[in-house]
This record gives sequence, structure tokens and C-alpha cells, in this order.
Amino acid sequence: MDIINRDALAIAELIRKREISAVAVTTAFLERIRDVETTVNAYINVACDEAVRRAERIDGMLAEGRDPGPFAGVPIAVKDLLSTRGFTTTCGSRMLENFVPVYDATVVERVDGAGMVMLGKANMDEFAMGSSTENSYFGPTRNPWDPDTVPGGSSGGSAAAVSAGEAPWALGSDTGGSIRQPASLCGIVGMKPTYGLVSRYGLVAFASSLDQVGPMARTVPDCAALLGVIAGNDPMDSTSIPVEKVDYTGSLDGEVRGLKVGVVKEISSRGIDEGVLERFQAAVSNLEGLGMEVEEITLPSFEYALSAYYVIAPAEASSNLARFDGVRYGFRASAEGEDIWEMYDRTRSMGFGNEVKRRIMLGTYALSAGYYDAYYAQAQKVRTLIVRDFERAYRTCDVLVSPTSPSVAFRLGEKVDDPLTMYLSDMCTIPVNLAGIPAISLPCGLSDGMPVGFQVMGPALGEATVLNVAYALEGAIGFDERPPLSTSK
Ligand code: GLN
Repeated sequence: MDIINRDALAIAELIRKREISAVAVTTAFLERIRDVETTVNAYINVACDEAVRRAERIDGMLAEGRDPGPFAGVPIAVKDLLSTRGFTTTCGSRMLENFVPVYDATVVERVDGAGMVMLGKANMDEFAMGSSTENSYFGPTRNPWDPDTVPGGSSGGSAAAVSAGEAPWALGSDTGGSIRQPASLCGIVGMKPTYGLVSRYGLVAFASSLDQVGPMARTVPDCAALLGVIAGNDPMDSTSIPVEKVDYTGSLDGEVRGLKVGVVKEISSRGIDEGVLERFQAAVSNLEGLGMEVEEITLPSFEYALSAYYVIAPAEASSNLARFDGVRYGFRASAEGEDIWEMYDRTRSMGFGNEVKRRIMLGTYALSAGYYDAYYAQAQKVRTLIVRDFERAYRTCDVLVSPTSPSVAFRLGEKVDDPLTMYLSDMCTIPVNLAGIPAISLPCGLSDGMPVGFQVMGPALGEATVLNVAYALEGAIGFDERPPLSTSK
């Protein structure tokens, strides 16, 4: 059975019916990982023994007629900034190379409670700062569609693992596009939920007012199912929204006739590559074919979103990352004959990579007494304008759409020394984070053999509608290409 090419819901069903054992599924994925990891490098640490032991327990429970959960035995990759009790959590950083948490993130607890088997921790840009996964201390991840290109970032390991058949689905995190942009570049589906819908407890903080955990999978129904597992109130996260559980899978009926779609002009024309625009426009025609009413909409504040994000996110990061000082967590530079200040200095100089240092400096500057009003306060005002622009748009539109990324996957090394160009690859995804609303990226075709992503955005807590539109569009597009990755490389 070609298990590694099945979607997660199909695998769950096969295990439930006892047509295949959880151990056989886990072993098949571990073998695939062994075959392709030298090329892809999607994982920082693979949980080989732990995964097999867990799958054995699940099989045991099934044999005894006990219920190990709705997704019993379905493997999952977990981005390496989610705390896993007893298993290394590095955040892609030298600083946490050997850090073993003493508790599980709430989302990790929830996927565990649903019976899933964690295959390992997925590679990422250091502390989730980046758009290419080249900022990982553990080496870049490569795009399974073309190993000379990047998988996007910062959840590039999660996206590449799903795309290459090294996991049927994965958890990522999205602060400025880190789920959607890699999903787009790797030809998979990825969703950033409404801020506060999914618990951040045990997610190592980058920019706390923007960070959200979300699902990455090969299909929209898989994404909906995984969101259903991880969403929901958590008293351990003070920003968690107290909402009732929603059955996202149950609301996928593909009935979208009459819904109003706004094509956001500011992020769907200027600065977008031609090949991406072509695929995007074809998908917009698909929406019309499904009976949706499409109109162009302009949201003027979006022009300033990128600049505002690159003040707010580094400001929050500079504060969040102050805790990595060589005393409480992870790496410490040897301190013989030095005072504590020198120890802090050397630890942070050696423990953090260049992009993280750049963000800490940017953020510290933006927050400093003399510049606070000029940068941080201004950026917060822009944020308010973006929230208002979205609110206005949702008075007339049910969903908004745009390309997910202005280009297909770029070559490794192409942008890594040019931070501004790298930051521009987030232009379509960032407004969503600043407003805290949900958005999904799904594949809408290929341009020069590389996947193009289509973004559907909805109002706060509008996940069910966003997923349903994506589901209808997925059916209309019929994208079923898989990366040509060979196992021999
Ligand atoms: N690429 C963006 C950044 O570097 C977004 C990262 C993210 O969403 N974690 O900040």
C-alpha cells in the first residue's frame, strides 16, 4: 500500500478499520524520511524510537477495543518551536541546541490526545525569523519540487515534510506568513487561524501579539480536521478566545454560490510575478464559475503593512528573546575569568545567528526612548488602520483573496544576504497577522514547474467560511501534482 501518498483522513480511516497497523504506517513514513532527508532536511530531530513505541501502544489499544482517539496512529511533524516534553526543542537555534522542555505545548497535548504519532521536530528559520528556512542553525531545508530552491519559511521544514511525503500533515506557526508562504512554495495547504483561536501555551514566543499555531496538510479537509483538533479555549493562554468548538470538517459542503469575494488590489497586482498572477487570475475565474460574485477592492493602508510589521515584530522579539541569556535556558558561552555581563555578551553573540541579532537590534532601536514615538507608536497606528480597512471590506465581502506569495520558490542563497528583498516576500501575508484574522493558502497550479499559492482571507473567527471556499476552489482546480523528488539523491 502506497501509504505515504495518502492524505491524513484516509490514513486515519485505514487504521480505524484495522486494514493497516499504526506501526506499519509509522514505519513507512520513517523509511521515507530515511530515503529523502539527505536532500530535503525537513527535520531537525526525528523521533524514530519514540514514534514506533507510541504506534505500538496505539495498536495495542485498538486490539483491546479501546479508543485511542479520532486520529489514532496518524503521524505528524511538529515545528521545532513547540515544546515537547522530554524531546529536544531547538527553535532552529544554537541557543537551544540541547534544550529539552519539561512540559508539552497545549497543541502538542491535543494532537497526542487525538491519537497522533509525532515523527519528529521540523526545521525552521531560527526563532521563526525568515522566509526561506535558510536561517536555521541546522542547515537549510530544500524544496522537494526543486532542491536548488527554498521551501519558504519559517515553517519550511513542516511544509517540505508534507510535500515530500515525510509526514501526512504538520503543525506550523505563522507570525507574518510562516505557515502560508511555505505552504504556497511547496504546493500544500496551510492555514493561519484567528489570533486566539489556537493556544500559544508552549509555543516559543517570537512576536506575541502576532504568533499563531496552525495546520499544514495536503488537502483542505485534512487542514480542517487538524484545525478542529488544535482549536479551542485554553486557560493557560491569556489571549485564548473562549469560544465553543466548531466542527470545521462538518461545515465543508462546497456550497459557496452567491458569496461575495473581494480581490485585494494592493496585494494582487504590483510586485507580483507574471506567472503567479496568471495562475491567480485563473483561480479567480474558478471562483466565478462556482457562482461567487467577484469584485476588486482597494485597502489603502496595506501599502504600509510591511513597514509596520518590521517594526512591531522585531520590537516584540527584542523583548521576548531577552530571556536567552545563558542563565536559564540552553547555551552558555564559557565564562572563565569573566564577569556576568561578559558572559551574557558572549552567550548572545555566539548563540544567536545574524538574522535574529538584526531583529533584536531593530526592535531595541524602535523601542528606545528617543525613537519610540517615531517608530513603534507610528507602526501601531498603521496596525489600527489595517484592522479598520479589513472591517470595512468585510461589510461587503464574505472573503478576500490574493496570491499568497509574490513569487514561486526562489533559489537558495538568492535573497539571504539581502534582508529587504527577503522581507518583501511577506507582502501578501502580513496584513492578515496585523489584523488577527484567519487565512488559508492552497495550491492553484504551477508556474515554470513550481507551485503557486492562492490566499483566502476571512473575518475574525470566520474559519468555517474560509475553509469552505478553499474546499470548493480545491475541487474546481483539481491540483493533484506531486513533487518530482527522486529518492536516490
Ligand atoms: N517572514 C516573516 C518574518 O521573518 C514571518 C515569519 C513568521 O511568520 N514567523 O518575520
